[in-house]
Amino acid sequence: MSAIKKKVGKKVIKNAVSKTTASRTTNQNSLSKKKKKIIFMGVESTAHTFGIGIVSSQGEILANVKDSYTSPDKGMIPDEIANHHKDVAEKILVKALQTAKCTWKDISFISYSAGPGLDPALWAGYHKVKEWSTRFKKKIVGVNHCCAHLSIGALTSNAKDPCYLYVSGVNTQIIVQINGKYRVMGETLDIGLGNMLDKFGRNVGLGFPAGPKVEQLAKTGNYIELPYTIKGMDISFSGPLTRSEQLFKKGEKVEDLCFSMQETCFAMCTEVVERAMAHTGKTELILVGGVGANKRFCEMLGIMCKERGATFYNVPLDLAGDQGAMIAWEGWLRKEEYGDVEIKPHWRADEV
Ligand code: AMP
Ligand code: MG
Repeated sequence: MSAIKKKVGKKVIKNAVSKTTASRTTNQNSLSKKKKKIIFMGVESTAHTFGIGIVSSQGEILANVKDSYTSPDKGMIPDEIANHHKDVAEKILVKALQTAKCTWKDISFISYSAGPGLDPALWAGYHKVKEWSTRFKKKIVGVNHCCAHLSIGALTSNAKDPCYLYVSGVNTQIIVQINGKYRVMGETLDIGLGNMLDKFGRNVGLGFPAGPKVEQLAKTGNYIELPYTIKGMDISFSGPLTRSEQLFKKGEKVEDLCFSMQETCFAMCTEVVERAMAHTGKTELILVGGVGANKRFCEMLGIMCKERGATFYNVPLDLAGDQGAMIAWEGWLRKEEYGDVEIKPHWRADEV
């Protein structure tokens, strides 16, 4: 394993490149000092965020600029999100190139999130990438957004062969890599963990996205029992969500409901992850996705890992949610496998 230094803006984080099967060969090549440093761009547009990351073949993040659609009461309206992405794209591009101190001449290819995601948002990103690739004569690489979350987790940790817990707005999956292929060991049967928090937040007036506000309010809350719904290795969040909304209408305090939702739903995820780790013999866990920013969630997973002698990693906050740097890095790892694949709104990590 080779230690490298990764720059995030002015920050320098000491890192190691993991040897997951997908990244092992390219990392070894990319880290060879004899090889010229290659710089590439990644464009994220699957959901609320339009982001552009500029990354080097040595894993340095030179720029990671984003702008996210938000709405106080409506949640995510796909056409409004697509318009947001179209409106901010050129501004984000200029800022990313300025931050990375480079021009189009330095960029060797553009990767983009081909899916999974919302159709209008994906098309908005894809059309921008096609426009730039034609204008500046760059190859494009369509990548899987979920795999990009996993790969940035691997890049920023010391993990060699981890179990991943991927918790974002739309997705909740427990994933491992076996013989170079991602396998989903367990997942949500209905909505993603982030969406559950966002839906609850919208209905009780917390605005969107609600996850960070739920985390703050939970700090002063007390426990109320909610449905604890695990089915085999899969999880369902609609039960705890519906019950929380019913209890809110009956006058229970928002703080208590925020605390109880966190305790219940994070415990459900932790239980399934522990079983996946026991079954596969994995001794490392990486938490990725936007809900990974939650400190209480990290604490619970950290305790579980410690109790079974495993190591817990979470990604730096600025790389936890959707952003372009992870898309750029995944494009670097997959540049020989994928090219212009248009959009794939239902593309799963285990199909890559
Ligand atoms: P992503 O789709 O990966 O960008 O993640 C976005 C999701 O993460 C949204 O549903 C947010 O509400 C959620 N989120 C962000 N920060 C936190 C937090 N501190 N605690 C819980 N959820 C969060
Ligand atoms: Mg995501």
